[in-house]
Amino acid sequence: DNADYAFALQVVQQLQEAGFIAYWAGGCVRDFMLSKIPKDYDVATSARPDDVRKLFGYKKTLAVGAAFGVVIVRSGKRKIADVEVATFRTDLDYIDGRRPTDVVFSTPEEDAQRRDLTFNGLFYDPSSSQIHDFVGGQKDLESGIVRAIGRPADRFEEDKLRLLRTIRFAAHLDFKIEAATWDAICKNADKLGVVSAERISHELRRMLVDPHRVQALKLLSDSGLMDASSFGMMGGEINSHVDEWQLAIQTIEQFTSPDFPLVLAVIEHALLYSSSESREANKHRLETLGRELRLSNQEIDHATWLVLHFRCLQKPQSRPLAELKRLLVSPYANDLLQWEQAAAIAGNEPLDDVDFLQDFLSQTPADVLNPPPLLGGHDLLAAGVPGGPQMKLLLDQIRDAQLNLEISSREEGLELLERLKEQR
Ligand code: ATP
Ligand code: MG
Repeated sequence: DNADYAFALQVVQQLQEAGFIAYWAGGCVRDFMLSKIPKDYDVATSARPDDVRKLFGYKKTLAVGAAFGVVIVRSGKRKIADVEVATFRTDLDYIDGRRPTDVVFSTPEEDAQRRDLTFNGLFYDPSSSQIHDFVGGQKDLESGIVRAIGRPADRFEEDKLRLLRTIRFAAHLDFKIEAATWDAICKNADKLGVVSAERISHELRRMLVDPHRVQALKLLSDSGLMDASSFGMMGGEINSHVDEWQLAIQTIEQFTSPDFPLVLAVIEHALLYSSSESREANKHRLETLGRELRLSNQEIDHATWLVLHFRCLQKPQSRPLAELKRLLVSPYANDLLQWEQAAAIAGNEPLDDVDFLQDFLSQTPADVLNPPPLLGGHDLLAAGVPGGPQMKLLLDQIRDAQLNLEISSREEGLELLERLKEQR
C-alpha cells in the first residue's frame, strides 16, 4: 500500500513538474482523510489526455476513456496499483439517467461539481499536503453527513446509480444522510431500473457484506430502493410483511462476517414468505433473482440450497441419522446452522435444536458423515436390477441403512439388497 501511495504521489509530481495542475481526487482523498487505506488512487489534472500519454509514454499508458479524458498510467509492477488520471471536466446533458452525452474539459472547481457527494468532491495535493475543497466536503466528512453536491433532485435525476452509492456510503461510514438528499433519493427510487443490472448488483453486493449491512438494508427498504431493485421482482412485498422483514433484519444483524449468498438467502426467505407457490416454483424464482444479481452459478446454488433447507431439521433429536447426515454433509451446512442460530436468537426461540445440530456436525467425523457407499450401480446391475429410477431407489435405501448405522459392510449391503428385492 505504501508502494501504491508512492506511485500515486510520483504521478502527481511528474504532472506538476511538467507545469500542469494535478491533485488526488475523489474516493482516495475521502479515504485518506478518514485514515483509511484507499482502494485505488485517482488523479485529476489540467493536462489533456494526449499530454498525459506523452508525459508518461504511450507504452506505460492506456487511453481507456479518452473521450471522457481518462488515461490509466500503469505502474509496470504487478503489486503496485495503476493510477487513473482524468482531465478536469464538466459533464454535459444527462438524458438517459445513466451517463452524460458529452464532456468538456474545465477547471478543478467545475470538476468538483460533477461528482456525486461532497466528501467525494475533494482534491488533495500530496506534494504540498493541501486540501482543495470547493463543495464543503471536509466539513461534511467531519460531521458525518452524506450530502449530494448541488441540487440533490437534479443530481439523482442525472444518474440513478448515485442512489445506491449514497446509501452504500451512508451505511459503510455510519453517516447521516442530509434531509434534502434523502428526500431526493426517495423521490427517484422507483427509477433505479434504468441502471444496468451489473452496476446495481455490484453496489448491492458491497453493501450487503459490509459490517454495516443492516443499516444499508434499512435505508434500502425505507427509501423504496429495495422494491425498485432486483429484489422487487420477488414480489416487492417487504412493506406488506413488516414482521417477516424485521425478523430478517434482526437475523442478518447476528452474523459476524457472512458471505453474500447467506445474507441473500435470509432476504429471499423473507420475500418468499407470502408465496404459496410450490417448492419448484420458488426454486425457479430464487435462481432467476440470483442471475439478475449476477451471482456465480455456485453462489446461486449456495443461496438456493440455504433457502430450500432452512428449518428442515426441526426436532433433530428424533430424526433418523441418515436424514441429518445427508443434509449436514453439504458444503453449505455451516452457513445453514449459522442462519438457524441467528434466526432463533432473533425470534426469541429456544436454541436446543440448533445446539444439537452444531454438536452433531462438529462431533461427527467426515468419514462417518459421508462414508464411501457400500454398494454401487454395478453391484445392482450384477444382481439383476435394471438401471433407472428403481435402481436409484434401492441405492438410496441401502445408503440410508448405512448412514443409520444399520449395516456397515459390503456383505451386509448385498444381504439387504436381496431382502429389498424380495419385498418388491
Ligand atoms: P470506492 O472506490 O470505495 O467504491 P469511490 O468514491 O472512489 O469509492 P469510484 O467509483 O472509484 O468510487 O469513483 C471515484 C470518484 O469518482 C468518486 O469519489 C466520485 O468523486 C466520482 N464518481 C464516481 N461515480 C460517480 C457517479 N456515479 N456520479 C458522480 N461522480 C461519481
Ligand atoms: Mg475509488
